[in-house]
Amino acid sequence: MHYTSTRDNRIQVMSHNAILEGLSKDGGLFVPDKLISVSFNEIQALMGLSYQERAFQILHKYFPDYTHEELTSCIRSAYARPSFAHPKVTPIQSLSENLYILELWHGPTGAFKDIALQILPHLLVAAKRKNKSTHQTLILVATSGDTGKAALEGFKDIPGIRVMVYYPQKGISKIQEHQMLSQEGGNVSVVGIDGNFDHAQKEVKRMFSDALFNEALMQKGTILSSANSINWGRLAPQIVYYFSAYADLLEKGVLQNGEKINFVVPTGNFGNILAGYYAKKMGLPIQKLICASNQNNILTDFFQTGTYNQNRPFYVTTSPSMDILRSSNVERLLYHLNQSNTPLVSQWMKGLETQNVYHIDEKTFEHLKRDFYANFATQIQTQSTIAKTHQLYHYLLDPHTAVAMHVLNTYREEYGDSTKSVILSTASPYKFPSSVFASLYPQDLTSFQNEFSTLDELHKRTQFPIPPCLAHLKDKPPLHNQPPCAISNMSDIVFRSLS
Ligand SMILES: *Cc1c(COP(=O)(O)O)cnc(C)c1O
Repeated sequence: MHYTSTRDNRIQVMSHNAILEGLSKDGGLFVPDKLISVSFNEIQALMGLSYQERAFQILHKYFPDYTHEELTSCIRSAYARPSFAHPKVTPIQSLSENLYILELWHGPTGAFKDIALQILPHLLVAAKRKNKSTHQTLILVATSGDTGKAALEGFKDIPGIRVMVYYPQKGISKIQEHQMLSQEGGNVSVVGIDGNFDHAQKEVKRMFSDALFNEALMQKGTILSSANSINWGRLAPQIVYYFSAYADLLEKGVLQNGEKINFVVPTGNFGNILAGYYAKKMGLPIQKLICASNQNNILTDFFQTGTYNQNRPFYVTTSPSMDILRSSNVERLLYHLNQSNTPLVSQWMKGLETQNVYHIDEKTFEHLKRDFYANFATQIQTQSTIAKTHQLYHYLLDPHTAVAMHVLNTYREEYGDSTKSVILSTASPYKFPSSVFASLYPQDLTSFQNEFSTLDELHKRTQFPIPPCLAHLKDKPPLHNQPPCAISNMSDIVFRSLS
């Protein structure tokens, strides 16, 4: 099994090279060239296994060129304590008999990005070893808030690797910013930019395909790689928790053998939900993948009309990690929906690059609607969902997960479908204490000066547990103080950091 490009299926690379390269040379994304399937017996056999063992059962299928030893060692390093405080790594909570929350935020940064970014560095180091590479790898990361910190934590002090994170200076929560600015490690840089996530992601992608730039870096012994969800090494580890959640529900006797469930995913760059699509194609009994957006509801429109139109306003919302208009991983979905018709996918992506818009054909659109449902939540709906969920279940949602809860409720009202549903909870509510607090206690908001005192007060009132990584954050001093950078200067900063 190999990896090919969404834009040219004559390209073939091995899995470790897909991870090292991040993005294919032609600007496409790497995708597995064969469908991988898992039998129901194999799914049943996941019951009683640890998360680490389950991860091996799924991941070895996608990384055939890693030895058993290499892969188990990567998995062990990623998901051991203390990085993941919870022994189940991704525990599932039951709110009612058909409503479950899959908590993906028990890692070192309090967001679901840790699940992939704790293992990616190990996969990457093993890949370099296989190629006997002696270059320095420079990981460029554009972040909408959570990826940056998760990448910094994952890669800090790993020999042979440097990390540079670009974040929108005016688009993330204070807690998120403080998490990044207080990052330790001798190989990391954090840079605020004048622009939003889409601007940063676009410029990072451009740097990857700029031949001259890459040559100049090579002369400094450096090769670029990516830790954004355009890297296959970000996606594959996310497939694991869909299987693990299903196995947990089987284990608890909640599901009959083969019973189908829905997964509801708060979506930005379309990486998390795409992992669910792979799980479904592999044979996991999934009925619908429910794609939940915030006010930046470009995906809702796409799934409802078949037109991806980025000519629209951009909103800064209380769920910043979903403030994205160009969801890169849709390209992978289009590739699979078209039986790898790469010229067609290239044509659509060209449309997106030149006119900010493309229309998919009727057949692709029909396929799309079979697997997905999409909708969105406004700011007010998000707030009231946080309040209602707390009233009903004494469970605290972060704004991203609340978007998902709202969209599930809309779906259920529209279709009367009460299929058991699992909401992927992508962040701890304590990453966004001000907006969570404002949703629960709107009348009391003015009494707290900053996000840290709001965090403490939120905990005092709700008694919902604070993850260890956020409990001690306020005592950490800021260590990075680069001035904000214009998009056009992002590549200069790379050079300056190397000399
Ligand atoms: C990144 C992120 C998302 C969006 O996930 P994608 O894989 O980009 O779709 C949602 N919620 C939180 C908290 C995130 O950090």
